[in-house]
Amino acid sequence: MYEHDVLVIGGGGAGLRAAIAAHEEGADVAIVTKLHPVRSHTGAAEGGINAALRDADSWEDHAYDTMKGSDFLGDAPAIETFAKNAPDEVINLEHWGMPFSREEDGRVSQRPFGGLSFPRTTYAGAETGHHMLHTMYEQVVKRGIEVYDEWYVSRLAVTDHDDPEDRVCHGCVAYDIKSGEIGGFRATGGVILATGGLGQAFDHTTNAVANTGDGPAMAYRAGVPVEDMEMIQFHPTTLPSTGVLISEGVRGEGGILYNDEGERFMFEDGYANNEGELASRDVVSRAELTEVNEGNGIEDEYVHLDMRHLGEERILDRLENILHLAEDFEGVDGLEEPMPVKPGQHYAMGGIEVDENGETCINGLYAAGECACVSMHGANRLGGNALPELLVFGARAGYHAGGRDLGEARIDTGPSAMSEEEDVQTPVSPGAIDAGDEDIAADGALVEPSEVIDHHVTAEERRVDELLEKEDGVNHAEVRADVQETMTQNVNVFREEDNLKEALEDLRVARERYQDVFVRDPSRTFNTDLIHTIETRNIIDVAEAITLGALAREEFRGAHWRKEHQERKDDEWIKHTMLAWNDGNPTIYYKPVELEGEDKTYEPKERSY
Ligand SMILES: Cc1cc2nc3c(=O)[nH]c(=O)nc-3n(C[C@H](O)[C@H](O)[C@H](O)COP(=O)(O)OP(=O)(O)OC[C@H]3O[C@@H](n4cnc5c(N)ncnc54)[C@H](O)[C@@H]3O)c2cc1C
Repeated sequence: MYEHDVLVIGGGGAGLRAAIAAHEEGADVAIVTKLHPVRSHTGAAEGGINAALRDADSWEDHAYDTMKGSDFLGDAPAIETFAKNAPDEVINLEHWGMPFSREEDGRVSQRPFGGLSFPRTTYAGAETGHHMLHTMYEQVVKRGIEVYDEWYVSRLAVTDHDDPEDRVCHGCVAYDIKSGEIGGFRATGGVILATGGLGQAFDHTTNAVANTGDGPAMAYRAGVPVEDMEMIQFHPTTLPSTGVLISEGVRGEGGILYNDEGERFMFEDGYANNEGELASRDVVSRAELTEVNEGNGIEDEYVHLDMRHLGEERILDRLENILHLAEDFEGVDGLEEPMPVKPGQHYAMGGIEVDENGETCINGLYAAGECACVSMHGANRLGGNALPELLVFGARAGYHAGGRDLGEARIDTGPSAMSEEEDVQTPVSPGAIDAGDEDIAADGALVEPSEVIDHHVTAEERRVDELLEKEDGVNHAEVRADVQETMTQNVNVFREEDNLKEALEDLRVARERYQDVFVRDPSRTFNTDLIHTIETRNIIDVAEAITLGALAREEFRGAHWRKEHQERKDDEWIKHTMLAWNDGNPTIYYKPVELEGEDKTYEPKERSY
């Protein structure tokens, strides 16, 4: 058994920041990650990091923009903690050597981004995430923090108390991709999930193949509620053939969207009379698809993003990476032609329910970064707010697990925070096929840490043996493709009740087929077939949680548009959609949104740009 004070699962931006913070507190900390840290998806972030750094800007304005962007579904304590701490985190990065783009006078440059009332997005060219990841990885190496890379964490080692709020997380079980060893990891101080996004639940996504929602799925099955899972961001500028992102930085620098008629539709068709292309992402994505649906799309599929007028010098200085992406993936020279773009899945606003200190309702289990929901993005994330979020809340989770007193959190977690239960009519029963699946034995007998870990290691060894010994059956890739297809068809930008129900039916079929899944490659080393098979189960769980949440929320808020309910219903729906697994049977309940900040209450207003 491997033993440390603090275990961080994931070596992306959130994981690295959490590990550094726990180490600062004197903890013996280790990172367990399925990818080498610098291959994590944070490295793909292009546009930038928001922080109120200038005298003319303020954290209060950043907090307000974030709350408005969230369509009043974000929690004020989280948003205020975020906006206050983001500047220090950016300065910290700068002190660690992050090569920010700069003004002539040496100050860190900032550019406009969608939904921001001030140009507060700091950046390093159009490769911000890459530089950020390397800067923090250097700190991890410098501090001698142990990294178990290419170890796939497949389950959490949690006690089996009936009430999830009594459970304790003592560690995790991981599979060494290089040797096939299944190891138990014990953490005496805390386990921090930092596993990133879940974009692989969709087939047109900006997310990497590794973004399979492992963290939310593992936490959900262990008894932690997942929050606002229906809130999925579709980014308006992805390349049609691959889903590769064209950064919002292009529009921030002045890039223009045109339809097939050559109209600058964001203004000309009245989608966002003030901000135009720099309206919030949900607004721009809906506008583009409306244009396509009304016959104004190019090849009935996409619109054009034009940056030619910015001039070669500025493009090469600030957006060079974009030229390479457009050329490599679409064969388009962005200096000479407009680039084709359409909306694609990009970000999960929802995730593992945590408070401002990163704690879940299970003792000793934390989450940070995209896999977590604190909640500060609510129904729509503003561009440039994910990177500072993972810095601020990654650091807080690390400090807290490392032993620092951060004060009592104001955000309540766990089923005891429930304000009302929901009874959604679903066409098929969601959840596990075999309820009471061996994840949690649920008799309260499993308490002693090493026994807990041994129990979960044994269960995992059994599962892997079964998968490897089975000689035929269904290939996981077929199941995964079906899930991705139904999610993209039915749980996309525009959502309808019948389609959501169809998706739930398809997901049930996927679950049934998954029962018969088998791994073609019988080897124990570098068996990507095995890893992808395990991931596919996680994809099914998160896809179903997204769809259940989308069916339950009968209103239009932020990224969540419903054909039958095309208005925001503040009287009824300023509440978080919560899903608890309850030993295999998901239940839906709600908890209130916290609109009261430190000094003011954020009154919901009409959201226009
Ligand atoms: C193309 C793109 C561009 C973006 N640009 C911006 C931007 O400019 N500004 C902004 O604010 N946001 C941006 N975002 C969003 C932001 O980059 C992400 O939300 C953020 O980087 C996620 O960081 P993370 O640390 O949570 O996850 P990741 O960086 O994805 O790291 C996840 C880590 O978890 C590990 N892991 C996952 N599952 C397991 C497992 N089962 N076992 C072990 N390890 C596991 C992985 O190996 C990885 O190390 C962008 C997103 C995309 C997709």
